[in-house]
Amino acid sequence: MFCRERLGGAVRKMSSLMPELSMEHPYKDITTETARTQIGFAGDLEKVPTVAEFWNDYLAQVIDHSVLPSLVQKGEVLRVHKRFLNPEEEVEGRSRLADLFRVIWKFDPGSVLKDSMKENPELFNKLGETVVASLEKGYEKFEDFDLVIDGRGVLSSPLPMGPSQTEALNEIQLRETGNIHYGFHSLENADSILEKSKSLCIVGSGVTAAMWLLKASEWMKNPEHSISLVSTEGVIFQGMFANPSHRDLSYKLNKYLEEMLLDYEKACEAYQKEIHAWRDLDSHVRAKTPQPQEPVPRFDVYHGCNVSAVDRLLDREGLFVTCETVDFRGERRQIELKTLGCDSIIVCTGYVLDQSMSRGLRTHFHHHGKSSECEEGTHPEAGFYTLGARKSGDRYDLKEGLAQLPQIEKNILSFFSRSEGDQ
Ligand SMILES: Cc1cc2nc3c(=O)[nH]c(=O)nc-3n(C[C@H](O)[C@H](O)[C@H](O)COP(=O)(O)OP(=O)(O)OC[C@H]3O[C@@H](n4cnc5c(N)ncnc54)[C@H](O)[C@@H]3O)c2cc1C
Repeated sequence: MFCRERLGGAVRKMSSLMPELSMEHPYKDITTETARTQIGFAGDLEKVPTVAEFWNDYLAQVIDHSVLPSLVQKGEVLRVHKRFLNPEEEVEGRSRLADLFRVIWKFDPGSVLKDSMKENPELFNKLGETVVASLEKGYEKFEDFDLVIDGRGVLSSPLPMGPSQTEALNEIQLRETGNIHYGFHSLENADSILEKSKSLCIVGSGVTAAMWLLKASEWMKNPEHSISLVSTEGVIFQGMFANPSHRDLSYKLNKYLEEMLLDYEKACEAYQKEIHAWRDLDSHVRAKTPQPQEPVPRFDVYHGCNVSAVDRLLDREGLFVTCETVDFRGERRQIELKTLGCDSIIVCTGYVLDQSMSRGLRTHFHHHGKSSECEEGTHPEAGFYTLGARKSGDRYDLKEGLAQLPQIEKNILSFFSRSEGDQ
C-alpha cells in the first residue's frame, strides 16, 4: 500500500477542520467487519458518528493497528503501467495478466536522510552539497504487482474555475500569484488565506464551498470583509440541500445564511430609520449632517453563472473575476457580464480523478471523470481497479466506496476460479 502522507485521507483532515460535522451514515455502513474485529470495536453500529468520533473511535485505531504499518510504504505513486505490454498488445493464448503491473513511485528520503546525516556527517560532507541536494529532491523507484487498486480518491485533483471543467481565461497564468486556491485541501490553509484577504470570491456551491463559508464565518464578523459567491446553480446549494447525505452540513449552512440575511435586514431597517430621521431634520441642520449610508450586502451571490476570465490590473491590487450568465439556467434573464474584484479566489468547482497515472493501461472512465465506467470499479485492463466514486452520481462517500470492496474482491477471485471437474 502506497500513501504519500499519513493514512486517513480526507477524513483525517476533516477531523481537525470540522470535527463536529456528522458522517451522515451509521457506523455499520462506513466501517468493515474485518476492521471492527481487528480493533475490537464495541460502539453502537446504528449510531451516526461525528467526524471526530469516527476518526478517534474507529479510523485512527485501524490505522495504528499493528497489521497496517508493515503494509504501508510512504511515497507518491506517479505511474502505473504494464512491464512490457502497450495498450494494443495481446499475449497469444493468455490474458494480459500474464504481464505484471509496474508501479512507479517517488521515494522521498526526507527524515531518513536527515537521520543519516546526523549519524554520519563526514560521509555527507564528502558527498558534497550538489549530491545531497539531489538526494533531498527524492527519486523514482518501482515495484511490480499482479493486481493494482487505485484508491487515490478525487480530492487531490480539484477542477479549475472555467466552464466545462476547464480553465478560465488567464487562470493558468494567474495561479502563480498564489491568490487562487483550489478544492478541499485549500481548507487546510484557510487561516493564512483569510488573514491576508479582505474580500473572497468563492466559485462553486457544493460541499467544499459550504465548508469554506462556515470556516470563514468568524472572519466575516469584521464589517470590512466580504464574500462573492459565483455558481452555475440557478439556486445556490440546491444540489447539496436536496441530498440527504449532506443533512448536517446543509443544516449548519442554512442556519448561517439565515443569520447573515437577518443581520443585513436589521442593518436595512436601521438605515430606513436613520434616513427618515435625517430627512426630517431642518434643512439648515441637514446640510451640515452627513447622509446615512445604505448598507451593502457583504455576501453577494451570482447564480447561474460561469467564470469566464480572471484578470489582474497593473494599477490596482487584487484579482478581477469575470462571470457570465446564460438565459437557460434558473430564472430566465438577459445574458449578462459582470466583473468582481477580490483579494483571493477559492475554487470549489468539484473534482476529477487524475487519469494520467494509468495512461498506458486499457482504462474506461465515466465522463464525469471520477470513476470507472463500470460500477464495480473494473476496467478493460484485467486486474486494474478504481476504488471510490460511483458512476451513478456525484456522491463520493465512504459508504459507496466500501460497498465496492466485495465487488472488487469477487472480480479478483474470478481469476482463480476453476472450471467444474478441475482438481
Ligand atoms: C467537504 C467534504 C465532506 C465530506 N463529507 C462526507 C461525509 O459526511 N460522509 C462520508 O462518508 N464521506 C464524506 N466525504 C467524502 C469522504 O471524504 C470520502 O469519501 C473519503 O475521504 C474517501 O476516501 P478515499 O480513501 O477514497 O480518498 P481520500 O480520503 O481522498 O484519500 C486518498 C488518499 O490517497 C493519497 N494519495 C492521493 N494520490 C496519491 C498518489 N499518487 N500516491 C500515493 N498516495 C496518494 C492521499 O494523500 C490520501 O491520503 C466528504 C468529502 C468532502 C470533500
